[in-house]
Amino acid sequence: MNTRIDPETAAFIDRLPKTETHLHIEAAVPYRLVAGLNPEKFGGDPESWAQEYRFDTFKEFEDRLFEMALEWYTSAERYHEAARAIFEELRAENVRYLETSFHIGIIEFLGVPGEEIVQAIKEAAPAGFEVRVFMGIWRDHYQGALKTVIDEMPNWKQLDGVDIHGSEEKPLEEWNARAWEEARAAGKLTKAHAGEFTGADSVREVLDFLRVERVEHGIGAAGDPALVERLAREGIPLDICPISNYKLRAVESMERHPIRRLFDAGVRCTVSRDDPLIFGNTLHQEYAALAGSLGFTHAELAAIARTGFEVALLPDEAKRKHIEEIDTLLRRS
Ligand SMILES: [Zn+2]
Repeated sequence: MNTRIDPETAAFIDRLPKTETHLHIEAAVPYRLVAGLNPEKFGGDPESWAQEYRFDTFKEFEDRLFEMALEWYTSAERYHEAARAIFEELRAENVRYLETSFHIGIIEFLGVPGEEIVQAIKEAAPAGFEVRVFMGIWRDHYQGALKTVIDEMPNWKQLDGVDIHGSEEKPLEEWNARAWEEARAAGKLTKAHAGEFTGADSVREVLDFLRVERVEHGIGAAGDPALVERLAREGIPLDICPISNYKLRAVESMERHPIRRLFDAGVRCTVSRDDPLIFGNTLHQEYAALAGSLGFTHAELAAIARTGFEVALLPDEAKRKHIEEIDTLLRRS
């Protein structure tokens, strides 16, 4: 992966107003906070932060994530504290808008009401930084106490949307479609992870069965020209995480990442970090990977950033302001 870019492009990326629309909050707590709790166990930077590091299996990644995230996330207050630190880091990267998800399983695990977690995250947002919170649910999570949580989720005023997390291999169930429909009827945005390790069929399935308005990753669609054409025609955005895809071996190499083909075909693409606690990636590096490994020009990087604001849950006037800033920056570059 080549993230080495010329200083003008690096400065352009820094100055670009940006969004992040695919971030798992449990996998985004700054490592220094986790390490601070247990310095003996968590020493220097994790080896998975090395640029060329790649996980051999998804299980290895998951084990690492649970080990670190569960050390930190023990209460709603911890969500608040982590969110404050995450938002500060993002502001330093000139990110103006964030969509982050929390894992529904934590409600049962910690015994904390989910709405308190949503509120704890939102109250951490500083002025001028917009945050939208999504509930991440596995395909087989409709059981036990979580049934009630899922049934009541559409009534949670502060919740902005829902997202399917976890294994893409498991089948979607009837309740998935019903809950996603109810969420939309309540004005929430619906997403699903699909096409990260699976192919075009899995992307088509979340579009047709769940009728999602946004696909997380979705890069498996690139192998199917008819689906690519449909995504472009229907304007369905893909929230793509290039460095995560590289480190989890969802792609052969960064140079062959399908975001290039999808973008060129007119599919709306955004870039995000997914799980920075594990990958050690910054949003700057995501843009730098597009420029360094895939030849994205300033205009193309600006288009990615612009799409982030276009799909954001923001009033039109706010979107226009950020997009104008991007366009001005591009004219001067
Ligand atoms: Zn993800």
